[in-house]
Amino acid sequence: MTGASATSLSSIFALSAEVERAALVVSVHDVAPATRPAVEEIVTELARHGVSTCSLLVVPNYHHHGCFAEDRSFVRWLQELEAKGHEIVIHGYFHERPRRNGEKLTEKLFTRFYTKDEGEFYDLGYDEAFRRISQAREEFAAAGLTPRGFIAPAWLLGASAERAATDAEMEYTTRLARVRDLRSGENYSARTLAYSVRSGWRRTTSLAWNNLLIRQLLDAPLARVSIHPPDRKHPEIWHQILRLTDRLMENRNATTYRDWIAEKRTRQRN
Ligand SMILES: [Zn+2]
Repeated sequence: MTGASATSLSSIFALSAEVERAALVVSVHDVAPATRPAVEEIVTELARHGVSTCSLLVVPNYHHHGCFAEDRSFVRWLQELEAKGHEIVIHGYFHERPRRNGEKLTEKLFTRFYTKDEGEFYDLGYDEAFRRISQAREEFAAAGLTPRGFIAPAWLLGASAERAATDAEMEYTTRLARVRDLRSGENYSARTLAYSVRSGWRRTTSLAWNNLLIRQLLDAPLARVSIHPPDRKHPEIWHQILRLTDRLMENRNATTYRDWIAEKRTRQRN
């Protein structure tokens, strides 16, 4: 084989590998003993649609209802899911942010309108953020689970809290429109489909917005779908999630953030 044809052949292989690597990460947020029945249904139905691995965002002590590890059956269930290839991700600690006096309008907009007082890590100081993330890591490790990523509730992660996540040896985080490798500092643009279902107008807006957004995601190397347990209760929302997931699955493999980041690092080394 001549040098020129070997080169073109290897570039064809590189190209086909590139195409094969198009990925979909479906994440299920707010996993906790209280939301387990809904999450079980979501995970089961996704598997029927070819999504056999998800990133499961577990809240260590959801709304102060108690540490997840106190529920042994919940822990066993998470262990089984992890053994099947799903990923456990640390998702805040309490998933709650107390309101403060004298908040600015922008703070109110982000923390109340958009998230309903759940932006726990939006403006948490470094020390407290480090303490909560480290405690979560220890609790998951003691339960035999190995989270690698930290994703803040509503993706609201302030600069101090992000430094704390990095120092607590979290490997990556995600926001609404990107994934960030906390080790390398590399950002990857990747917008996620996500729904707000708290009221009728929010659901209508979400359906229209995600119907438009899907067009941008069809060609993206990484597509993301973020599901919250209440999404399952609204048939029009849930049907759209499944329909758009089916479309995305036509030309990509379902993976987890953990595996996607690991593959990115391997490719960058080579
Ligand atoms: Zn959440």
